[in-house]
Amino acid sequence: MQHFPIFLDLKGRTVLLSGGGEAAMAKLRLLMKTEAHLVVFAPEPSDEIVAWAAQGLLALHPRALAPADLPGAALVYAADEDAARDTRTAELARAAGVLLNVVDDLQNSQFITPAIVDRDPVCVAIGTEGAAPVLARAIKRDLEERLNPRLGLMARIGKAFRAAAEALPEGRPRRDFWSDYYFGEGLVALDAEGETALPAALDRMLDRHLASETSAGRVALVGAGPGDPELLTLKARRLLDTADVVIHDRLVPQEILELARREAILVDAGKQGFGPAMTQEEINTLIVRHAQDGHHVVRLKSGDPGVFGRLDEELDACDAAGIEWQIVPGLTSAAAAAAGIGQGLTRRGRNSAVRLLTGHDVKGFAEHDWRALARPGEVAALYMAKRGARFLQGRLLMHGAAPETPVTIVENASRPDEQVIATTLAALPATLESGDVAGPAILLYGLAPRARATAAAPAPARSETTLKEFA
Ligand code: SAH
Repeated sequence: MQHFPIFLDLKGRTVLLSGGGEAAMAKLRLLMKTEAHLVVFAPEPSDEIVAWAAQGLLALHPRALAPADLPGAALVYAADEDAARDTRTAELARAAGVLLNVVDDLQNSQFITPAIVDRDPVCVAIGTEGAAPVLARAIKRDLEERLNPRLGLMARIGKAFRAAAEALPEGRPRRDFWSDYYFGEGLVALDAEGETALPAALDRMLDRHLASETSAGRVALVGAGPGDPELLTLKARRLLDTADVVIHDRLVPQEILELARREAILVDAGKQGFGPAMTQEEINTLIVRHAQDGHHVVRLKSGDPGVFGRLDEELDACDAAGIEWQIVPGLTSAAAAAAGIGQGLTRRGRNSAVRLLTGHDVKGFAEHDWRALARPGEVAALYMAKRGARFLQGRLLMHGAAPETPVTIVENASRPDEQVIATTLAALPATLESGDVAGPAILLYGLAPRARATAAAPAPARSETTLKEFA
């Protein structure tokens, strides 16, 4: 971020602008929304600028900017649309140490004016550091449509009520009150009866919120999906947006954590400082403690919370403490892995069942019904199976599985760095050892990538192909 966005208080400050044509007028229209003292230098000002000066909206000097004009100014705009004059303005600004904007010249500007969506006092500023003005305009258009034109009015009336709303306890009760105003009863009152109904609606709402009991804490066990933020459910997004505390796994990526409410406390349960991961016992205690403090806790787990997620232990802890909980399912990584290789997890005539297996459990490498799995046509998604690959290969071959049974390793499924490696049961351990598979991976046993499965020639028995960008 080269340009840091801030909102500058211009009340009573002086803003200088050199120029009297189109570019000057465009900037002045924006600047006239502020409470700044505007001073324009233009030997040949447009009729509009002359009219604005006559209305007292700005001070107009029919001459060029001079060194004595600059001291004390907050900002200077070089808007002459003339290289020589703009350079002169820039030199004066730099010499006086006043922040400078040269219109349409990012390179020579010290600050830039963003595209804005104005619902004063609510203001959205959009900047792309000059990279994509088209994008900025599109975002502005989108927001203009989405933000109620009367949002500013609501915010102004709301602002005057802030002191009264402090009668509610800080934190969630107060936040609930304001959500009710902006998105619930307040909005309804405005739509039905207009602006004059808002103060009475605020009084009514405050009485009701003061009378309601302080909200109890609760826990949502939420699936974050395999990593692509677009694969989050709408419910997961909404809960993240309103969470007080988010306790997440190591595998949940930063882009998803950024969707959490800005004030939410984020706890990485996969880490403890720089030390080892928290124990399950510690995680349970943490969840319960935050909920008992009245917080809305989101326990965010990669994939689906009910697939190798120790869901029951956390539910038991909530139940034991009498805490209300809900489960929000997520897309399990096996589904994303299968999608990544263009295969269904089941297919008519091939496999009518699919198993989700873990490579290791509390006792070490996990035992399964190897005999059943070794039968031709079986399909399984193996989680946490990288380390135990040699073990499970040995077990399967011992129970009669064909060495050429396809196995596809899908690392970082659904993420930008997804990697697909097609191999066979016989070659699996060697493939994993020689391949660079450091991220989380699903082994799809019995499935080859679609391109390979449908290729004319049958796959050779021992082949290892890296399809880095399998499409
Ligand atoms: N609840 C999760 C699984 C948790 S166990 C789910 O439903 O997906 C952790 C294991 O999940 C990892 O060892 C890996 O095998 C798998 N996994 C999680 N995210 C993955 C991803 N994006 N790509 C491939 N495997 C992933």
